[in-house]
Amino acid sequence: MSESAPVPDSSALPAERQEKLPASDQVTEVAPGIYRLQLPINLPGLGHVNCYALEDGDGFTVVDPGLPDPASADALEHRMAQIGAPVSRIHTVFVTHSHPDHFGGAGRLRIGNQADIVAHEHFSTLLTRFDDDRELELRRRDDGFDPHAFFDALMGDGEIPELPTRFSPWGGTVPFPTRDEIMWMRGWDELTRRGLVENEPNVRVADAEVIVLGGREWVGVHTPGHTGDHLCLFDPADGILLSGDHVLPTITPHISGMTQSTDSLADFFAALHKVADLDGVRLILPAHGHPFTDLSERVDAIERHHEDRLDELVRIGIELSEASVIEFSHRLFHERSWGAMAESETYAHLEHLRLAGRARSRRDGGTLRYAIEG
Ligand SMILES: [Zn+2]
Ligand SMILES: [Zn+2]
Repeated sequence: MSESAPVPDSSALPAERQEKLPASDQVTEVAPGIYRLQLPINLPGLGHVNCYALEDGDGFTVVDPGLPDPASADALEHRMAQIGAPVSRIHTVFVTHSHPDHFGGAGRLRIGNQADIVAHEHFSTLLTRFDDDRELELRRRDDGFDPHAFFDALMGDGEIPELPTRFSPWGGTVPFPTRDEIMWMRGWDELTRRGLVENEPNVRVADAEVIVLGGREWVGVHTPGHTGDHLCLFDPADGILLSGDHVLPTITPHISGMTQSTDSLADFFAALHKVADLDGVRLILPAHGHPFTDLSERVDAIERHHEDRLDELVRIGIELSEASVIEFSHRLFHERSWGAMAESETYAHLEHLRLAGRARSRRDGGTLRYAIEG
């Protein structure tokens, strides 16, 4: 679960990070028929996730209904009650991307309410138990993880088997749910446990595709980088952008080196320009922090931040001459942020430099080592 959060960046951030604020129980109508419900999370740098409830004549669509634990489900129920709606009125869930603070509550609503789950066409989570065996086989080959074995461990009450170690492309290991985490999840009610794995979307949206949610026509804007399957939604009529984790008000999203793409950072830059080029954006509704209005200012600041990080890596590389991704990450991030996420982001930046001809890499045993060119 720990690979989910945007890594709070180590430099040049405003002292007050609104994404870190604890979830307020105040529900606000941020646009006609769109309510902001803050759900509690406790992840590095994040104190809440915004779940937006979009009202239509039949009930509600919720966007990113929080973590998959019972506390989040309770919070959702209480916040919905404040707008006079029982959770049973939720007929659709839109998930911006495959991180647990976003998709976590979706499966529960799919099972409990027969809600549709809407997400990008490539949406996939590590834990999703696909109905389609072919896809499952592909995933097994990819990372050695077997969602069926995880499901059995989660639903059972016997000894928890050792789950396989997942190796990263740069030669580190990426944490799976640990035995302790599975033990903790076993304390959840059955619906919540099933919801964690039974969350396959039944409506998949492609880039530029139009979908009606909450009585509005939204255009899907595929925005890979933070994850490969990140999808923003844009309502051109009112200029509203549901930005997920792609553009946040005061922190920069984590860039994942673990996507199918060879250059996640290049994808992210392109996706930043893509949203900046949308015509007539007047209100940005992010997944963490407060709604804001100046998109181009945030896009510029986030892009500048990553350019600075690339420059910093070049400086570090000149000093170290040749080093592993883990060594680079220990220089780039504060010690409190060290680990798989920091390594994944460092790897994405180093690969971006390599593909631009500014670095080279070689394998030393299982470990990838980088040197700066020139
Ligand atoms: Zn995320
Ligand atoms: Zn998030």
